[in-house]
Amino acid sequence: MNLSEDTFSRQGIRRGDWQLMADMNRNLVVNMLRAHPTMSRADLVRATRLSGPTVSSIVADLTVRGLVEEVGQGISSGGRPPSLLRLNDKANYVIGLKLMGHAISLVVTDLRAAVIYTQVTPLPERAAATAGPTPPPAPREPEVVIAAVCEAVQTAILATAVAPDRIIGVGVGVAGAIDANTGVCLYSNTFNWHNVALAQPISQRLGLPVILENDANTLTATEQWFGLGHGVDHFIVVVVGSGIGAGIVVNGQLHRGAQGAAGEFGHIQLEDGGPACTCGRNGCVEAWASDRAILRDIRAAVSQGTATSLRDAAQGEGLTIAQVGAAADRGDELSREVLTRAGEHLGRGMAALVNVINPRLVVISGEGVPAGEWRFGPVRKAIAASTFSQTPPEVVLVSEPVDGTKWARGAACVVLGETFNPPTKQSLVDVM
Ligand SMILES: [Zn+2]
Repeated sequence: MNLSEDTFSRQGIRRGDWQLMADMNRNLVVNMLRAHPTMSRADLVRATRLSGPTVSSIVADLTVRGLVEEVGQGISSGGRPPSLLRLNDKANYVIGLKLMGHAISLVVTDLRAAVIYTQVTPLPERAAATAGPTPPPAPREPEVVIAAVCEAVQTAILATAVAPDRIIGVGVGVAGAIDANTGVCLYSNTFNWHNVALAQPISQRLGLPVILENDANTLTATEQWFGLGHGVDHFIVVVVGSGIGAGIVVNGQLHRGAQGAAGEFGHIQLEDGGPACTCGRNGCVEAWASDRAILRDIRAAVSQGTATSLRDAAQGEGLTIAQVGAAADRGDELSREVLTRAGEHLGRGMAALVNVINPRLVVISGEGVPAGEWRFGPVRKAIAASTFSQTPPEVVLVSEPVDGTKWARGAACVVLGETFNPPTKQSLVDVM
């Protein structure tokens, strides 16, 4: 039986239905089985502290659904040997996608989020912008992206030979403001979108449940399931790139906020005035401290005649954040100054976030992380100096590969997280 039939609406956007799976006891049992190769019913009773009849009834239900199977017998401690149970993680699958400006990265995972298939599909060439002195980028036609997503999923289904009724859902990650409850992209800088419905049309076309999620949240889900956030109940993943955002985990749960816009601390206004931000205001953390802001400041200094080894690169189109980091390492004063100033502003914003959430861990993640200590040293200092609690959180830098696979796996984890609560300390108690 397919898990999706009673846990997801076919439109894929009514989260209320999925709450059926938020049954604490069932989640305890499933997560225990996810964490161990095999367990007997007695192991489950010991590990979950649920009663024998409750465990038996949950196991019977999961077995009927094809999620749990008996795989032989354990060692008897007197009497009949116990049946060993395992999560039938190959019976159901999840698809995760990351929408990038130029391509779609896709993974298929099993119920333990092990990747069984990856695929990167280029998006069709974008229509040329209209003529004019500095034309704004034309919005991506949603229909083109929706069709490309559906085609990518269908290609993956054919390539893996997984029956569609064995796919419990499709997670789609995209940068921008996302209302995960309605599956609407409220705003995307990458695609120049405002209020574009994505989950529903994709779900209708594929006949599969679809969850749309902010990409910082998908990366946070990956850290929660497999990375530094594994088993940590309160942590933040700050994603630093051309924009700045964060995924927040509180009490082991991803915190999305009322409209899915939690974590947008990149738009905390540090002061009136200041550089213009993509959100239309001025002086936001992102406008001071993103990769884009750093490149803008280097170019502006070069055009005013400031000496720097990056002069030629800054006058062309190709200046990258990695070049700025490398120049700072080689002693370039301008690069050091701009990275440090950006880091100080990022640190002020992050200190505010840390004081509100009180996390144990902050992971700073993104492709620009190699710009290293010139940029993130001031962040650590600002957090240490401004944290109200006695013990500032641990701050760790993680550099992300650019192919989008990790983000796509995160989108799959978001679907798994909706189906089974993510593993927390409680559910990972060792039973042996
Ligand atoms: Zn802003």
